[in-house]
Amino acid sequence: MNTIEKFNGSVMHTYGRYDVVIDSGSGRNAVDENNKTYIDFGSGIGTNSLGYCDEEWADAVCKQVRSIQHTSNYYYTSVQADFADKLCSITGYDKVFFGNSGAEANECAIKIARKYSFDKYGKGRSTIITLVNSFHGRTLATLSATGQDVFHNYFFPFVEGFIHTPANDIDALKAAADDTVCAIMLEFVQGEGGVVKLDEEFVKAVRQICDEKDILMVADEVQTGAGRTGKFLASEHFGVKPDITTMAKGLAGGVPVGACLASEKCSSVLVPGTHGSTFGGNPLACAGGNVVLSRVTSEGFLDEVQKKSEYIFDKLSKTEGVASVSGLGLMIGIELKEKKAADVVKAALDRGLLLLTAKTKVRLLPPLTITYEEIDKGLQIFAELLA
Ligand SMILES: *Cc1c(COP(=O)(O)O)cnc(C)c1O
Repeated sequence: MNTIEKFNGSVMHTYGRYDVVIDSGSGRNAVDENNKTYIDFGSGIGTNSLGYCDEEWADAVCKQVRSIQHTSNYYYTSVQADFADKLCSITGYDKVFFGNSGAEANECAIKIARKYSFDKYGKGRSTIITLVNSFHGRTLATLSATGQDVFHNYFFPFVEGFIHTPANDIDALKAAADDTVCAIMLEFVQGEGGVVKLDEEFVKAVRQICDEKDILMVADEVQTGAGRTGKFLASEHFGVKPDITTMAKGLAGGVPVGACLASEKCSSVLVPGTHGSTFGGNPLACAGGNVVLSRVTSEGFLDEVQKKSEYIFDKLSKTEGVASVSGLGLMIGIELKEKKAADVVKAALDRGLLLLTAKTKVRLLPPLTITYEEIDKGLQIFAELLA
């Protein structure tokens, strides 16, 4: 029995998988079981922010696993202290709660928003507004938060108290933001929704509505955070500070992690007994995360991400078969003129290039450490596929 047969015989079929078995990786290249290499323009969906098995990152995780792999959150660990301290000081947030995924980080944000409001105003102020076309995760609450009808099926009843208004529609948001609302939650660049960036004017209006009505502004930076957009947080591009920001995907370089960051206003809402996670703040994740934080915030790193972004946007806009390019930093959506994104992604595998899709677009989330040579090589293959 080969790997794919064994896999499909025992793992639930929740993904439309490609017929590729990835065995190893180094730098920006993945290697399959037949020793074929692929330039990775997807970072495993934005998780391997420093590429595969970055030396400093791998050393830190290995050193940690030989020291202490896990302990209960009833005790303190220095590695979690370091990670939290660095993360709060980089982002300017007061405190953080660690989980293991983006969905968990968002669950935490939802709980903080509802309890913040309950503590201050009592019952009946629990509605959370999210945007049409958003994506916030796969748990029942985060599916309910997700503003796409295709996700609201089969699993009834969904969690109550979520409403969705169109992105960039300030009037609709104002009309929806009544006395029952405790939070407005958004992605600055809708990732799964097709790499759609919000208007700055809209984002500023969200901040203003939240300030006027004591509604918490929650930013889902699970995909956009940790340097992906060329700033540590995408909120920096928009000049706003949300009350809560969630992070996950690339934050620990490929070890499962989720973080819910809260400003002083709501950082003591959760108290003992109200929230928890067995694995949250796991030492391996924190050790990996510490390396990501120090690398991404090192002198010139994010400027390089911005420059590579401009380089890719420029090249793509001159590529035949490309209708338009969207996104921010190294989070890039490509609308094609004639070819279907899914077909191009499949054909790219044969040519040794890993791509992602988002709705009808091809999506790129390359490792932040990708080189110009690798960009050229990957984009050359991409251009040939479109020709
Ligand atoms: C991926 C993603 C999530 C869900 O993260 P998981 O780690 O899969 O739970 C939530 N929000 C956004 C914006 C995402 O991109």
